[in-house]
Amino acid sequence: VAAPATMRGASIGVLVLTLASAPAPGTLALLSRIADPLGVALTNARAHAELATLSAIDPLTETLNRRFGLARLEEEVARCARERTPLALIAIDVDRFKVVNDTWGHPVGDQVLREVAHRLASALREGDQLVRTGGEEFLAIVPGASIEDAIRIAERLRAHVGTRPTSTSAGELTVTISAGIAVASAIDRRAPNALIAAADAALYRAKAAGRDRIELAGAGV
Ligand code: GH3
Ligand code: MG
Ligand code: MG
Repeated sequence: VAAPATMRGASIGVLVLTLASAPAPGTLALLSRIADPLGVALTNARAHAELATLSAIDPLTETLNRRFGLARLEEEVARCARERTPLALIAIDVDRFKVVNDTWGHPVGDQVLREVAHRLASALREGDQLVRTGGEEFLAIVPGASIEDAIRIAERLRAHVGTRPTSTSAGELTVTISAGIAVASAIDRRAPNALIAAADAALYRAKAAGRDRIELAGAGV
């Protein structure tokens, strides 16, 4: 027995009931009564999925996603240039994260990632912005931070993540992060893309130098 699930007159699905014997009288009417709310539920589910792709928030870590994060960075760089205040960008990457996944499985990796993001966010101030730019990669946007501030903040982020374990379903796991810092200052203005490239280059150096450390991008680099 089948009944269409409709929403505002449009058919958006079919409810199919398979029976071992001939349907009892009234079965089709019953099915039709179920199909109506099903149409509403399907429409809601579809709207929810569409909203999720439009959302600014990464569902796993509840931080700003890449697309919206980069837009925020553009705004903040422009605002800090107007107000003649510095802006620090800290590129963060979890060290040897593939090992966590390979050893304990992807769901445990997800638990660790969520905790890393939570610790990073809680080590930042209001007005700062944490962005998940990729798998286990984040950007911290820190308006108003000088080079000295940025170094202190990056060290705080590193300590917040790496000095105590995370409780996961596989037990307590400790991961560390590496970070690269780039600062746009009143005398050394940098476009968002140049800032990201500089922070990434510094991050790369932190990795090459052994991980669990921070590096500062040189002037004009
Ligand atoms: P490195 O210290 O050089 O950064 O080593 P790494 O292992 O962290 O670097 P790599 O980029 O090789 O590995 C990143 C891993 O992150 C690989 C990928 O499977 C994992 N990953 C990316 N996104 C997610 C995610 O959403 N959940 C989980 N569990 N793992 C993810
Ligand atoms: Mg990475
Ligand atoms: Mg990594």
